[in-house]
Amino acid sequence: MTVGGWYLRWVIPMTAVLLLSACASLPIVDYPSANQDGRVRFLVIHFTDEDFQRSLELLTRPHKNPVSAHYLVSRAGEFGGNDKPAVLRLVDESRRAWHAGPSRWQGHAQLNDDSVGIEIVYESRCPRDAAPSSPWDLEPRCAYPDFPADQIDVVTRLAQGILRRHPDIDPTRVVAHADIQPENKTDPGPKFPWKQLAAAGVGAWFDDTDVVFWRAHFAEHPPSIALMQEALAAYGYGVEAGGSADRRTRDVLFAFQSHFLPERRSGTVDADTAAALFALLAKYRAPELNQLRERNPGLPVSPRDAERTK
Ligand SMILES: [Zn+2]
Repeated sequence: MTVGGWYLRWVIPMTAVLLLSACASLPIVDYPSANQDGRVRFLVIHFTDEDFQRSLELLTRPHKNPVSAHYLVSRAGEFGGNDKPAVLRLVDESRRAWHAGPSRWQGHAQLNDDSVGIEIVYESRCPRDAAPSSPWDLEPRCAYPDFPADQIDVVTRLAQGILRRHPDIDPTRVVAHADIQPENKTDPGPKFPWKQLAAAGVGAWFDDTDVVFWRAHFAEHPPSIALMQEALAAYGYGVEAGGSADRRTRDVLFAFQSHFLPERRSGTVDADTAAALFALLAKYRAPELNQLRERNPGLPVSPRDAERTK
């Protein structure tokens, strides 16, 4: 063996191995800063409005308008060979899924960037022949079935885990697709049991005591469109306070009512809708409610609000 052959056969490869292992074991010291937060701030709930097989295809295959979600929750018996709903992880939570579309919530836009999305297999039985100017125009012709209890149980446990992993998702940041894109979307629809989920620690719900207080106020002082626009925006909705009952305001009111007052879906302002909205602001968005009071001095302070701000 020549020196050159020995050199080529042993020295160069060994040097390469040593260099590679030095790179692989580059020492990095964990020294956590106090100044950081999570990248995920929102949890968005959807229904697929398709059966399981079609939902899975649409959410996982290449398409000219590709969509996905982090999780797909089936109905019982649709996947996995048993009689339980299954949870399929389609996209890791550390990566963006494409479920939120051109969306707005609490001053954030394009919520794909900082949300986790759950799609639930569910069929709304809305007519598909019409192309209405607003999706809410179809509501009277939809036949929304109840969500199966075992499917909701699975969604609840899945959401509880997501909230544990991403503590920046406060209750007002667990939203319907309809809340963040009300001009195009109505999911997860009026039968989704938001109150039940809130009782399990997932998302927001108002306290009845606050609702009683605010309903009494708004029965005497009917809320203006401008006040409702301001209040909806203070809660998170993407609506401007222009003061006119435009289509955007109607879509946002429908989305709010579908979430919190499903029996009162009208797209118009009434005392019950105002009471629910202000009860939510009082419970979860006190600083924003105080700013509203500064601009609207007629808004009262309830004894509970006074307690909360002590
Ligand atoms: Zn959706």
